[in-house]
Amino acid sequence: MRWGTLGLMIEEADCNQESVLRIQQRVPLAPLTTLELGGTASFFASIDSVGVAKEAIRWANRNSRPVAILGGGSNVVVSDDGYRGLVLRAALRGVQLRDDGATVRVTAAAGEPWDDLVEMTVTENLAGLECLSGIPGWVGATPIQNVGAYGQDVAMAIEGVRVLDLKNLEEKTLAREACGFGYRTSTFREIPNHFMVLSVTFALERHGRPKIEYGELRRSLEIGGTTPSLAEVRQAVLGLRRSKSMVIEASDPNRLSAGSFFVNPVVDALTLATMIERARNSGVLGSSENVPNFPVDGQSFKVSAAWLIEKAGFAKGLRRGACGISSAHALALVHHGGGTTRDLLTLAQDIRDAVRLQFDVELQPEPVFLGFPTANPLAASR
Ligand code: NAP
Repeated sequence: MRWGTLGLMIEEADCNQESVLRIQQRVPLAPLTTLELGGTASFFASIDSVGVAKEAIRWANRNSRPVAILGGGSNVVVSDDGYRGLVLRAALRGVQLRDDGATVRVTAAAGEPWDDLVEMTVTENLAGLECLSGIPGWVGATPIQNVGAYGQDVAMAIEGVRVLDLKNLEEKTLAREACGFGYRTSTFREIPNHFMVLSVTFALERHGRPKIEYGELRRSLEIGGTTPSLAEVRQAVLGLRRSKSMVIEASDPNRLSAGSFFVNPVVDALTLATMIERARNSGVLGSSENVPNFPVDGQSFKVSAAWLIEKAGFAKGLRRGACGISSAHALALVHHGGGTTRDLLTLAQDIRDAVRLQFDVELQPEPVFLGFPTANPLAASR
């Protein structure tokens, strides 16, 4: 084993595997994120095996450096000050299929591009992920926020998540029930930097029917007498997402974003009634109009955050210097180049404050934050 000073690139052979731990210094994180914002990681390593992950964490412990995990960078906001510890990019690769009759178990390593996996499952005629087409990022990040779209979320298909415990370096598999999945959340999100996700196993149904319960998707498929194929559902979802700049494409002026910036608030009936009353009293809502909401269970209602944002005075396409709101969707904050994370968060705070003033509901950010003193820097402000 060879040790350099902290000022040098350090290479260590992992005795059990062929891959090598390379720790780099002062690595810009902005190019590794879809927002293209934020500072540098003091130390950085791309992780392509479990052995290398363990070596990296031991290195961080020996050098008293905190550790943060990065995936595909599509749902993260990096501080302008960067991260003063070791950033591990969970870039493990590999996909395995286990055919158990009607159920096919697909295990994908954390660094597999998410949409490539969805495309493969649709091509193989495996139902369960088709509505999650076109979402950017890597597999390992999907359990963190329980990624969902068009009536499906990953928790519906996840059988288990293989993790590395960053505290004791133990590997284990968490069954779905142990992951604490909820609406756009999980144990991984509630207790950040406790585990590195190594791989995710999905239980998918061979020749299963696609899930077409989401109204907008149903309408776009113009369902007649026949059930659309998984491939047709995938194409429909991709079309819908493209129309809202939710598929990252080089020519799209809204492409630098972290997708939805806020989570749709889930409120109880009384809070919803108060919101509607306040909106009517202030003239934001006509007497026959309603706040768009969807029942979650008998007692709570999901409210469209995009609607709240627009009604609070923040229109699609609004621009504030280098940052703004997507011209295709009010829920996505975008970076137009040359900006800072502070610019983006100032806009996010203004939106949150306006929604709170207008509707008395607190919008929560959807992305995770890297390099900030708290897990939610918006909560600490004002
Ligand atoms: P939208 O049509 O503007 O509707 C606003 C919100 O209302 C949606 O977020 C959705 O909640 C909810 N909604 C609409 N119709 C619904 C129905 N029939 N049943 C239950 N809830 C309904 O939606 P959008 O913003 O364009 O997004 C379309 C889909 O893509 C949504 O499912 C959204 O979550 C998803 N998406 C997910 C991410 C992410 O996971 N990061 C990013 C971008 C878009 P839900 O969000 O709960 O579906």
